[in-house]
Amino acid sequence: MLQKTSHFLRQANYIDGEWVQADSGETIDVVNPATLQVIGTVPKSGKAETRRAIEAAQRAFESWKKTSANDRAKLMRALHDAIMDNQDPLAELLVMEQGKPFAEAKGEVGMSAAYILWFAEEGRRVYGDVVPSPWADRRVLVTKEPVGVIGAITPWNFPSSMLARKIGPALAAGCTSVAKPASQTPYSGLAWGALCEEVGIPKGVVNVVTGSASQIGDEICSNPLVRKITFTGSTEVGKTLIEKSASTVKKVSMELGGNAPFLVFDDADVDRAVAGAMIAKYRNSGQTCVCTNRFFVQAGVYDAFVEKLAAASEKLKVGPGLEDGTEQGPLIDDGAVGKVEELIADATGKGGSVVTGGGRHALGGTFFQPTVIRDATADMRVMKEEIFGPVAPIFRFETEEEGVALANDTEFGLACYFYTGDLGRTFRVMDGLKYGLIGVNEGLITTVEAPFGGLKESGLGKEGGHQGIDDYLDTKYVCIGGLGL
Ligand code: ADP
Repeated sequence: MLQKTSHFLRQANYIDGEWVQADSGETIDVVNPATLQVIGTVPKSGKAETRRAIEAAQRAFESWKKTSANDRAKLMRALHDAIMDNQDPLAELLVMEQGKPFAEAKGEVGMSAAYILWFAEEGRRVYGDVVPSPWADRRVLVTKEPVGVIGAITPWNFPSSMLARKIGPALAAGCTSVAKPASQTPYSGLAWGALCEEVGIPKGVVNVVTGSASQIGDEICSNPLVRKITFTGSTEVGKTLIEKSASTVKKVSMELGGNAPFLVFDDADVDRAVAGAMIAKYRNSGQTCVCTNRFFVQAGVYDAFVEKLAAASEKLKVGPGLEDGTEQGPLIDDGAVGKVEELIADATGKGGSVVTGGGRHALGGTFFQPTVIRDATADMRVMKEEIFGPVAPIFRFETEEEGVALANDTEFGLACYFYTGDLGRTFRVMDGLKYGLIGVNEGLITTVEAPFGGLKESGLGKEGGHQGIDDYLDTKYVCIGGLGL
């Protein structure tokens, strides 16, 4: 391990600028999914530690909100630089706890830095309005101010960048935060504490607490000092958090599950579609909420697409994320492997055929073969459930209307992709798809400049883009009268 990496491996909560253990002294083991070895521990904190973090964030908010956007941007630019100066060790830490290939981890850390820089700039453009007044002697102003303390809960698949999208706009808007990273991947979350400390972000502005998800989540939801909760994770947990936040009427933003369709029309460039499919399916071993879950391919190119995708899938190099040339790492844990196995068994039991892959990889542990299944049908579980693994079920369709209807036949609405060479079809299909993110002839579209977020049960609110700071701001209307004008 690089010396710098161990510097970021913090085995303590970061609360009010101090590195502290759980009150009980209990810890949680963190396991490297590639080796199944324990890397270290983190505190198993609960309600009391979370409450202290929230109270520290509230105290810090009183002064942080009064700093100028320019001063906050300066600190955020320093934070961006600190991340980039440590891109390799932060990426190594990420691979150790999460498993993804080093190049992907480095890309994620780079994205984290890019979000911080983006929001440093956006924070300086939080404009209000001066509205033409209907009264001759009054003036009408609309102002924006930070909402206050935010609670941020993040998953294990992007342990660094999911926090960047939350801590970034919070810092820029003048909010303070209490973050809870996923227990499988807490070190990339705690590294945010170390980085904030290093660049001189005042104590209490960013706090990171690890431990019991339900206890920390319950405190964040029920504590009236927290004015906004931002969550990335499953739809099931997201719904619970929305319900629990109702008692204190918090703002909520939710990045929840997806069930991304990937449509290939007869007029598409099939090689381009296969290249897009490889990244949209296998990035992070299929463990992203925007990963393709269902491929729908029009009859005229069905066989060609299946054959080419299977050939490309067979070439993917599976291995430990820190090994040179690895393109697909292990799955996060045994539970994930079990789910993928069940979904494959269900699909083959209902008439699907495995073209390549289909089971655990010879490397053992949680490594899994890139898998392509043809002749998928609507009654299979893969049509409805998030696979979160390297399995590509391919459905056949005949007409454009049928393809769009199949793609929309889900309660989710996060990402979708389609490939066509026809301009009219591009607009018809784009208009017909009920999704928050649409890639046309592209399989990877996330960027800090654009608003990321789902429709339907995939979520509420946007992260990134100029929209990404909106949820961290309250709007006030001020009417100034008696001006004697
Ligand atoms: P995933 O399937 O990606 O693990 P989860 O929704 O289970 O998705 O987890 C995402 C994040 O939500 C993690 O940080 C997890 O610890 C947290 N979490 C899980 N259950 C709860 C809960 N009841 N309350 C608050 N947070 C939770």
